[in-house]
Amino acid sequence: MLILLELDAPRKDIENLKSKIILHGCTPHEIPGSSKLAIGITGPTSNLNEDEFHLMSSVQEVVRVTKKYKLVSRQMKNEDTVIEFDNAKIGGRELTIIAGPCSVESREQIFEIAGQLKDMGIKFMRAGAYKPRSSPYSFQGLKEKGVEYLAEVKAEFGIKIVTELISTSYLDEIASIADIIQIGARNMMNFNLLEEAGKTMKPILLKRGMSATVEDLLLSAEYILAQNNYNVILCERGIRTFETSTRNTLDLNAVPVIKKHSHLPILVDPSHGIGIWDKVPAMCLASIAAGADGLIVEVHSNPENALSDGYQSLTPQNFKQMLNKIKQLAPIVDRTFSL
Ligand code: PEP
Ligand code: MN
Repeated sequence: MLILLELDAPRKDIENLKSKIILHGCTPHEIPGSSKLAIGITGPTSNLNEDEFHLMSSVQEVVRVTKKYKLVSRQMKNEDTVIEFDNAKIGGRELTIIAGPCSVESREQIFEIAGQLKDMGIKFMRAGAYKPRSSPYSFQGLKEKGVEYLAEVKAEFGIKIVTELISTSYLDEIASIADIIQIGARNMMNFNLLEEAGKTMKPILLKRGMSATVEDLLLSAEYILAQNNYNVILCERGIRTFETSTRNTLDLNAVPVIKKHSHLPILVDPSHGIGIWDKVPAMCLASIAAGADGLIVEVHSNPENALSDGYQSLTPQNFKQMLNKIKQLAPIVDRTFSL
């Protein structure tokens, strides 16, 4: 349920309303960034009587939210969510590019790629220190050492760090250096991990599970917003289908569908989506044309020697060419792109 109040509603009316909601066993959420003063209600809302709220002072409208997900829905908040950083924003008209290697492999490797990305004007670098690999015998990441190198590279270049959290055991360690905490496809439905990551109040990049529907993804995001953390960025990264000629099937349908149902920004990861480096640029352009708010792309200084996902990684040179094409495409789809 959503309650819209007069914009100049006195604080005591808002607090009275919240107390009444809590009295009925539900949870009130003041919806941030909305042009209207809005209180979202989650919990057993079928117990609530709309008329009771209509009678309260400052209340303008009471709306039943029909979707299973509530706080992530456009019904609760119509305006697009824009996540603000000191020198960047995610969401809104400006496109965002997150780029970097799949994994942190060594101090030299991460410093080299960070320098190359920084020179291109990239503000967000991705790189995993803890890697969730399909095989237990594959490289699992440099773990604590990887986190240490990420901290060093962040201090040296001022580049923002996007890195994956695979377990609550590493929460403090990852939260201490990550500007954005990535939750990977394999953990999209690890609800406890979502709640604990959400409680840090850090921006969370939530990747779609490989067998998850759009509704599943939005319900997972709801777990984070339910912690009052609205800084969630969704990510389409391909799903499993019968098709075997590509690593996954990049479901670009999800982009306009999510835009319709949710106010959260959505990025696309064409690297994991198609899994073949020379096909990645085409899918980057397609993602932006479909309405994505930006991309997360794997870029490696030396892909043939990468310890994970080298085959789908762009060289810095190929990545730069792709960025030039995005620059040309942006105004055609009414976006800005200022690298
Ligand atoms: C990654 O970003 O390197 C990764 C493991 O992605 P996903 O969780 O989408 O497989
Ligand atoms: Mn990867």
